[in-house]
Amino acid sequence: MEKQEILIVEDSPAVGILLKNYLNNLGWETIHNCNSGQSALTVFDDLASQGKQFIVFLDFMLPDMDARSILTQMLEKKPDVKVILETASEKDDEGIKELIRLGVYQFLEKPIRFESLKNIMETIEKEESFFINESSSEKSLREDTEEFKENLHEHINFVLKSINQISLNKITGIMGFENDTITSYLKKLVEEKKIVEVGDVKEISCNRCDSVRTSPIFYCPNCKGSNFKLGKLIEHYDCGNITEENTYVDDQCPNCNKEIKALGVDYRVMKNHYICNSCNEFFPEISIEYMCLKCENRFDLDKARWRTSPNYKIINM
Ligand SMILES: [Zn+2]
Ligand SMILES: [Zn+2]
Ligand SMILES: [Zn+2]
Repeated sequence: MEKQEILIVEDSPAVGILLKNYLNNLGWETIHNCNSGQSALTVFDDLASQGKQFIVFLDFMLPDMDARSILTQMLEKKPDVKVILETASEKDDEGIKELIRLGVYQFLEKPIRFESLKNIMETIEKEESFFINESSSEKSLREDTEEFKENLHEHINFVLKSINQISLNKITGIMGFENDTITSYLKKLVEEKKIVEVGDVKEISCNRCDSVRTSPIFYCPNCKGSNFKLGKLIEHYDCGNITEENTYVDDQCPNCNKEIKALGVDYRVMKNHYICNSCNEFFPEISIEYMCLKCENRFDLDKARWRTSPNYKIINM
């Protein structure tokens, strides 16, 4: 089988080079390195529009964009893309759990070890051999072999271990297909007291295809773009300038060049504002819309469908 292309999104050149070398050693040759979220999305669009299959390595902490915003934009264009999240030690972070619910394929722990990378890449290749047309939205299984089951179990384990609680609908959504193997494996885990069923849960589902693999999309109320970051703004009362904290170099207002002196007297700090990278507007709140990660449909919350399925809590995995 021909190796897919790789897109590395990593702001540290050292880590980027290391990862590239490791992948080269494993036989993956066409590698694109990007050091910002913005440039990565451009390359991503380019590869996707050429109909290429590729794998993404995404650094959780990028200076210019939020990992969640990058992930949703990628999944929006290519719902089946495998994104491997590079993380340091923030595994318990709520933000990371949220990314797994959205469909991050795996973690790669930093510092990056050759062995863990090798395992992930082997799993990907194995998984691909199970499906005919892995790339299309309707995956079809070649045959229900033992090897396939083992692989599926491992993937389910990964999801369960990373999230404390998850519904059956969400698991099937993340796996990308419905299969008895999934339900019977969950039943087995319940019997082994590794997980427990904790009633039913109602979740937002796509009003076109019924998938619960949906994500709230946050977008700029002004330009509708979804390229923004969370930041701190300073308002200089004297001249009315409101820009990011880091534009006030040496406490000097970038607009009138006067020094800002006393907090609350001649300036104020506005925390947690969303700053749009596209139009430079900023907002305390941003607009929300839901997007289906399976069929790319977008809908408002009041138009959503709701689906119910058993919810599982992880006890001892
Ligand atoms: Zn849908
Ligand atoms: Zn904007
Ligand atoms: Zn000023």
